[in-house]
Amino acid sequence: MAQNIKDKVVVIAGASSGLGAETARQLVKEGARVVLGARRIDRLKELAAELSLSDEAVFQVDVTDRNQVKAFVNHAVAVRGRIDVLLNNAGLMPHSPLERLKIDDWERMIDVNLKGVLFGIAAALPHMQNQKSGHIINTSSVAGHQVRPGGVVYSATKHAVRVISEGLRQEVKPYNIRSTIISPGAVKTELADHISEPDIAKGIKDFYENYAVPADSFARCVMFAISQPEDVDINEILFRPTAQQL
Ligand code: NDP
Repeated sequence: MAQNIKDKVVVIAGASSGLGAETARQLVKEGARVVLGARRIDRLKELAAELSLSDEAVFQVDVTDRNQVKAFVNHAVAVRGRIDVLLNNAGLMPHSPLERLKIDDWERMIDVNLKGVLFGIAAALPHMQNQKSGHIINTSSVAGHQVRPGGVVYSATKHAVRVISEGLRQEVKPYNIRSTIISPGAVKTELADHISEPDIAKGIKDFYENYAVPADSFARCVMFAISQPEDVDINEILFRPTAQQL
């Protein structure tokens, strides 16, 4: 059994599918007390039923709305008494070349991937400062380390997530708060289902079909970071499927 996970209150934004949902499954197995947020409340309720969690373990939240994110985190603290870990994991990846001017997609990525992470930090930080402990884990990407044609805005948001996480890490030393960036390569989830350009969607889906690994790969990284003793702060994890070149 992993150390230091049992009874921790772990709040996951973006828990209704993919990486967040699988991380919730693995954490519950290890005895964590999770609170799960996303827009699709029906999916969250299904997951709660699968994991035998009570209704208070799920919360409908759109991370683009700062008040909703605050209400989500406050709900978690109200029902669980504290917040040990916030996993800022909500995100979307509607890739397309800049010249196609999919400006609505650009805005959605900035709102969810970037501002959503900031709103999560804003909601959790006051509680963690009061507690003099806490751990904020932000999901970046291999795209947070490099840029490729077609993924420019996504990559920009994921670079920003890394910058914010590292800046946060440096600023919260007085409060005993930890900050971890996790940057996955291709993992099988619903991420590629929301690409609006059919040719781009096909290319990405083919790539994922050939290379992506299961979501427990990500969950293990989260567990590794959380399971460290309180004086060890895992700042950054970058992983890819073994077969993924770039
Ligand atoms: P999924 O599409 O399966 O999951 C995305 C999650 O984000 C869902 O729970 C979704 O919930 C939530 N979400 C999206 N928009 C919002 C919103 N406005 N408010 C609240 N929640 C929202 O994909 P993944 O599991 O792959 O994605 C999780 C994270 O991992 C993302 O940040 C993604 O960028 C990152 N990532 C994924 C990789 C991969 O290969 N899968 C690789 C690198 C990074 P709902 O729709 O119910 O609101």
